[in-house]
Amino acid sequence: MSRRLIEIDPALETELATELQRDRFHDECGVVGIQGHSEAANIAYLGLYALQHRGQESAGIVTTDGGEHRVHRAMGLVADVFSEKTLRKLPGRMAIGHVRYSTAGGSQIRNAQPFCATTDGGPVAIAHNGNLVNAYAIRRELEGRGAIFSTTADSETIVQLLARSRERTQEERLIDALSRVKGAFSLVLMTSDSLIAVRDPHGFRPLCLGRLDRAWVVASETCALDLIGAEYDRDLEPGEVVVIKRGRIRTLRPFKREKERFCIFEYIYFARPDSNLNGHNVYAYRKELGRLLAREHPASADLVVPVLDSGNTAALGYAEESGIPYEQAMIRNHYVRRTFIEPAQSIRHFGVKVKHNAVASILKGRRVVLVDDSIVRGTTLIKLVTMLRNAGASEVHLRISAPPTIGPCYYGIDTPTRGELIASNHSVDEICAIIGADSLRYLSLEGLRGSAEPLKSSFCDACFSDEYPVAVDSDDKIPQLSLFRDVEADDA
Ligand code: SF4
Repeated sequence: MSRRLIEIDPALETELATELQRDRFHDECGVVGIQGHSEAANIAYLGLYALQHRGQESAGIVTTDGGEHRVHRAMGLVADVFSEKTLRKLPGRMAIGHVRYSTAGGSQIRNAQPFCATTDGGPVAIAHNGNLVNAYAIRRELEGRGAIFSTTADSETIVQLLARSRERTQEERLIDALSRVKGAFSLVLMTSDSLIAVRDPHGFRPLCLGRLDRAWVVASETCALDLIGAEYDRDLEPGEVVVIKRGRIRTLRPFKREKERFCIFEYIYFARPDSNLNGHNVYAYRKELGRLLAREHPASADLVVPVLDSGNTAALGYAEESGIPYEQAMIRNHYVRRTFIEPAQSIRHFGVKVKHNAVASILKGRRVVLVDDSIVRGTTLIKLVTMLRNAGASEVHLRISAPPTIGPCYYGIDTPTRGELIASNHSVDEICAIIGADSLRYLSLEGLRGSAEPLKSSFCDACFSDEYPVAVDSDDKIPQLSLFRDVEADDA
């Protein structure tokens, strides 16, 4: 049989990988910052390495020793973007870094962060996780006054506003700029002598603070602190601005107080299970969701099987609570985005088998509870349920450890449009029939909200409830990274 070898550029996925990727929500960024360490660039690199799950498309680090900023940014994974040689070219005791995920439209090196700018107050570099819901309107206004944007990302709006602010110091200019934007921002900004970390007043995205020897470290998640051996200090509070200069730290609260709206999906799917968010372990919470799901929606079955890796922890919780044995009866290949051989002749279900394969000896004649954390378009689950049946499963009962995903996100997560979300257009019974499962049950919204009460935060659950905590300008009610779609079209 003739075969052809396909080398896949990580940034340009095959149709197959794209389809599998598109059938999930995606976090859009992770940020890290360090002040007061002789190996600032290396520490930032390791921090980004730990945050790779928050963005796989581009990575960048900016450093300074009080003078000019040095930057290295490129498309690709952290380990591919940086080498010993590139890190050696980033001297300085202060650094910020960024990993980014984006949709195809925004997939350009000029959108890779951190963004750097020279202002009349000196150089600034910014790394932003989140999404601004009024960026389009501000951009139009600034362009009307002669501003020239060099990227198509909403984060540049903050830099443009900062550069135009009449306030005296860079710190005051940043606060002035952030007072004008609405939406989600957990960011780090570096001037020539200070590292500034900020969470928006609703606190949509995580940001934590740690200590490494005498240095201060800021990161999107605690797993980054763990890798570099930093000690967790605390999470930044919503609306908090932390200014770190020459080892001293100051806290400001310049914004109007708002109700906290931490993204519940960070707990359900985005954050790494070994991270703690607001002091609560993500793995433990996901397992609790699985237990709750088992109590809400029991099933007569022989095995609990996770969709790897997204449903893994909830499946463990479901199995523990129900007493049904847990089995990894589907195996996931983690390397499909790199290289694979495509046969010239068609093989049944080849596409999905590239990423998942069923263990027939475990499944034969068994009734299966298949657990995942969400259904976006449903395309992957159609194939997985078919795969389980073909491997011999006699029944497949699908259980989802979150409520139906009915709305897109406007606060920093890349989601399909409402029309593409299967739960937005179909009843649970219809989705079950489309996917081909014997039964389908989701965790209830009340159950999710009740489970979150011990976490002592109030949450955003808009993609499940349709209750959006921050109104979105109508022009911005389009997929997030297409915010400046007309600009993209002009550039094409
Ligand atoms: Fe998170 Fe969903 Fe709210 Fe977006 S809409 S912030 S994904 S809970």
